[in-house]
Amino acid sequence: LGPTVTIGEILVEIVARETGTGFREPIDLIGPFPSGAPAIFIDQCARMGGAAAMVGVVGDDDFGFVNIERLKRDGVDISAIAVSPDHPTGSAFVRYREDGSRDFVYNIAKSAAARLEWTPQVEALIAHCGHIHVMGTVFASPAAWAITERAIPLIKARGGTMSLDPNLRKELLAHGQTEEKFASLVDKADLLLPSGNELFLAAGMDGEERAIEALFRRGVQEIAVKRGEHGASARQRTGARADCPGLIVEETDPTGAGDCFGGAYVACRRLGMPLQTALEFANAAGARNVTRLGPMEGAGTRAELEDFMARTARRS
Ligand code: ATP
Repeated sequence: LGPTVTIGEILVEIVARETGTGFREPIDLIGPFPSGAPAIFIDQCARMGGAAAMVGVVGDDDFGFVNIERLKRDGVDISAIAVSPDHPTGSAFVRYREDGSRDFVYNIAKSAAARLEWTPQVEALIAHCGHIHVMGTVFASPAAWAITERAIPLIKARGGTMSLDPNLRKELLAHGQTEEKFASLVDKADLLLPSGNELFLAAGMDGEERAIEALFRRGVQEIAVKRGEHGASARQRTGARADCPGLIVEETDPTGAGDCFGGAYVACRRLGMPLQTALEFANAAGARNVTRLGPMEGAGTRAELEDFMARTARRS
């Protein structure tokens, strides 16, 4: 039915080599690493062998080059990624604190990423996509929201499907009308990929079983629940279920785990793999990604993930 598409921000991440607080004194940095939640998702989707495409904007600069080259190399259709002549590629400086929390300096709101628009290239791409993956980062970008709202019915009208990774961060929830927008996306989603309390926020109630049943009643067909180091579970409206314990890894950089999980899961399911197999690959994609510095440096091909699973112990 056509590739999986995602819409949104493409940026680079520059990471402090040492833990600590903020950026108020000179520190060693490493980067630029290609980044942006939708870019990480779609890169992992393509690496897994899924047909993948992205709608985004980069600047006419080296940070844009780094992203375009990575996505192209990994097999993402970049025909609807525009290059803005007068806005720089977005960037995020990240420093981890001792307790695992992160300090950021963002340059996204005024970057090329904010210049997303519905172009003839976007129109042509959306016309042949079979699946759209929506990420919560759309709530922070009016431009990404507008394109997403326009693309969903077009893809659904041709028999396509939609997945939603709520990705609800504190800073996103501060944006106007997020709750209504979120609820409207949940109602359209075929597949939901929540983590933390997002399942409860999506359902509007606590209790995993109750929340899942309520979402199935609202039309969601499948739910993959991400549980960080504890692995993941998947449920289908038909009653099928799969569970996967966490793989035991040394966490170097947790950024991007959820996006890689999603990219692998969506790719595997669209390639026709059974629930349990898709969950195992997705669980491995998330776990492998946290072992590498840089938000998408640990994204893996099918062969790399198979190898990783074969030599990594699981939690009991
Ligand atoms: P993100 O921080 O990218 O938004 P998320 O909250 O959406 O992530 P997580 O649950 O943190 O998602 O991670 C997604 C999946 O990646 C998990 O369900 C698990 O399969 C795997 N994973 C993440 N962290 C670890 C870890 N420390 N050890 C093993 N597996 C992990």
